[in-house]
Amino acid sequence: MPVPDAAPRSPAVWSTPLRSRFRGLDVRDGVLLRGEAGWGELSPFWDYDDAESAAWLRAAREAADVGWPAPVRDRVPVNVTVPAVGPERAREIVLRSGGCRTAKVKVAQRLANGEVEPLDAEIDRVGAVRDALDELYGEGGGEVRVDANGAWTVDEALERIPMLDFESGGLEYVEQPCATVEELAEVRRRLTADVPVAADESIRRAIDPLRVVREEAADVVVLKVQPLGGVRACLDLAEQVGLPVVVSSALESSVGLAAGVALAAALPELPYACGLATSQLLERDVVADPLLPVDGALGVRRVEPDPVALAAAAAPDGLRERWLARYDRLAALLEERR
Ligand SMILES: [Mg+2]
Repeated sequence: MPVPDAAPRSPAVWSTPLRSRFRGLDVRDGVLLRGEAGWGELSPFWDYDDAESAAWLRAAREAADVGWPAPVRDRVPVNVTVPAVGPERAREIVLRSGGCRTAKVKVAQRLANGEVEPLDAEIDRVGAVRDALDELYGEGGGEVRVDANGAWTVDEALERIPMLDFESGGLEYVEQPCATVEELAEVRRRLTADVPVAADESIRRAIDPLRVVREEAADVVVLKVQPLGGVRACLDLAEQVGLPVVVSSALESSVGLAAGVALAAALPELPYACGLATSQLLERDVVADPLLPVDGALGVRRVEPDPVALAAAAAPDGLRERWLARYDRLAALLEERR
């Protein structure tokens, strides 16, 4: 395969298998854009329509054309993410996380029959993660949070969170236990365990992200740069929300992750580890030196695609054409909205 120029003028399309199935995906792909300020990534999930994906292009354009606000810190603590895997694999993931002292454990996995996975499986996974953190950092060392991606009912959340809180030695927070803002508010009101509630999908896929605040539905908000339209848009939103912010990725390559790192680095306060160590979930990245944690943190830096890595992750022709067509549609849509 020919090695592309170090700085292709036309967008580069990449694709890589994931190491574990995540968010129902086995493959992740996207477009890289180059502009005056550097590189930007456009990688909305394929189940997002153009109207929703336009914000993702705005974020890519900001990175490529304008760059990001000045950082106020030079490293960003990050969490390791444990997908809905068995306890042995969960343990391994924590032990090999690059020193992450916080683990985010996925729960509320939907099974093939449409039912949510049994509580026992969640308890085993969370327990294995707690044991691995204890082994690394001493008893009670490190933090465990869980993310249900909105998949529990209110009753499931109210039953399961206290059990998982106990098993984990105290949950740092529970992320998006249920789907709607009303349900989050109800869980938060009725929860018998002292576990903060974090809103993720209720912020980034909402027409009105501030509803979470008005309804007192969360203690913490998760912000993602691409779906929210860029680093500056997220900084503005963080100011309006007035709650602690956790920056997370949308499973980007290191080019997209760098935008999340830039946001985390520019926030006035950063009380929690961020969900930006997700390059670990990709089989291939597009840079020579991926944004991977060292001592549990990512360094704040810009990254550039590496020609060899990019060639290895080059998307097959059909996929490349689909992305370029999608990019053109989104660019036209942004132009219309101006
Ligand atoms: Mg989440």
